[in-house]
Amino acid sequence: MPSIRLQGKIFLQGTINALTGLHIGGNSGELDIGGIDNPVIRNAFNRQPYIPGSSLRGKMRGLLDRHFNKPLDKSVGRDVRVHECQRPADYNVCPVCQVFGVAPIRQLSGKTMPTRVIVRDTFLTPESLGALDRADTDTDFTEIKTEVAIDRITSAATPRQQERVPAGTTFGPFQIVHSLYTLDENSRNNQLQNELQFFDTVLTGMELLEDDYLGGAGSRGSGQIAFENLAVIFKSRGCYENADIPPITIAKNVNIKTLRQSDYTEKILAAISAE
Ligand SMILES: [Zn+2]
Repeated sequence: MPSIRLQGKIFLQGTINALTGLHIGGNSGELDIGGIDNPVIRNAFNRQPYIPGSSLRGKMRGLLDRHFNKPLDKSVGRDVRVHECQRPADYNVCPVCQVFGVAPIRQLSGKTMPTRVIVRDTFLTPESLGALDRADTDTDFTEIKTEVAIDRITSAATPRQQERVPAGTTFGPFQIVHSLYTLDENSRNNQLQNELQFFDTVLTGMELLEDDYLGGAGSRGSGQIAFENLAVIFKSRGCYENADIPPITIAKNVNIKTLRQSDYTEKILAAISAE
């Protein structure tokens, strides 16, 4: 494979708004006796709930697998199957594996690009931290939702509890970092068009996620989120080579739809051409 050149990084950042209660499961092993059996994930230092980058990324990837109709061809553990291309011919035309990466298996050795997307962990905004701190709840920063399973014949009821971050909580800034690579300077512009198409795949994943759910109990109302106040910042290769070249703000105060309708790809291509 020819040498891979980084042409720049796109930083997509903004706020994640929990439109309904959000349950991203944590570890119940650490709980005291009498604690709830279905807790949310928390930062070990300050006990604040957060959104792991792995949760966002994994959900987006799973939704994109289905969107692009990709086969579930890899087993993870005993019961979980996911999509990951196993052959170079498949990988070369698979936007999901190109964006999110593949495990280094022998058949693909030396025939893949670096993983293009990084999704950071996202923490409570200062506003939500203050509001949840002041709220009078039984648990730190969260609510306990009780659901009832009802026997269809006898109507006997069994309650079950789940800890959630309340609706209206905001997390941010979240950050997704997407790298643009090229292999051959002679056809750089054509390759960059493809690279920006891969970034659009990330936006598709975010849009699919907004219409699906994050975390658990989504079919019962939890986990509806919105990506809000989005900004796109581009750091070209020159920014890394020369400290005097600043990153460029490509878009701000947009949502996913308005971003995709905008001319952001032209702006990024122009920034690269100008160097
Ligand atoms: Zn694939």
